[in-house]
Amino acid sequence: MKFIVIGLGNFGSALAVRLTEMGHEVIGVDNNMAKVERVKNVITHTVCLDATNEDAVSSLPLKDANAVIVAIGEDGAASLLTTALLKQLKVKRIIGRIISDLQKTVLLAMSIEEYVLPEEESAERLAMRLDLEEVIDSFKISDKYSIVEGLVPKKYAGMTIGEADFINSYKVLVLTLIREQISKSGENLKKEATGIATASTLLHEGDVLVLFGELANIRSLLKQD
Ligand code: ADP
Repeated sequence: MKFIVIGLGNFGSALAVRLTEMGHEVIGVDNNMAKVERVKNVITHTVCLDATNEDAVSSLPLKDANAVIVAIGEDGAASLLTTALLKQLKVKRIIGRIISDLQKTVLLAMSIEEYVLPEEESAERLAMRLDLEEVIDSFKISDKYSIVEGLVPKKYAGMTIGEADFINSYKVLVLTLIREQISKSGENLKKEATGIATASTLLHEGDVLVLFGELANIRSLLKQD
């Protein structure tokens, strides 16, 4: 996929580097040449421009990008202006960055529904969210292993974990399933972990699998229809 990351501070640079490592084509943008220089060898492409300048932003391949991430934080005005500009230029998927409730209100008023709050979500988790739409959340255990939450691929709905046999076909272990359950009072639906998964646990459509394994293997498993 192709991504444009605007603002190469701590968060933006970590995100751009991670997406590049995952094999995506990334353009990292910053108006500070020193910031660009620092990461130019570890991001697919880097550009030095002012993202609040319409002519400059229009020169980026916005139409080809699967998503544009605004990672400018501290300068709230520049962050919002850039986001508004991208909206005006009809970028299909924009991820805004929020640092305050007020900024969130402004983003929602602009119909920007996807945003990141780096204080709560790491660059690694956002990279996973962008990399694989099926992933709901993820947690890196070590360089090799992760725990990832993702929807049960349709072809496995109705099978037991034993029948699906992820461990032999993908070397991926199912830790538990998260399923919508009716609360004891019988009123609202609550998402709850169903306990330790066993070979006889049945997979339902809409269940969230909590998986442990190597990222590439988990990715291949979740990418199936
Ligand atoms: P972090 O918390 O991730 O370090 P910062 O807000 O400190 O975030 O960094 C944001 C980055 O965005 C900085 O590198 C800064 O140079 C860059 N930036 C700020 N304004 C603009 C702009 N108008 N155009 C492009 N990049 C910008």
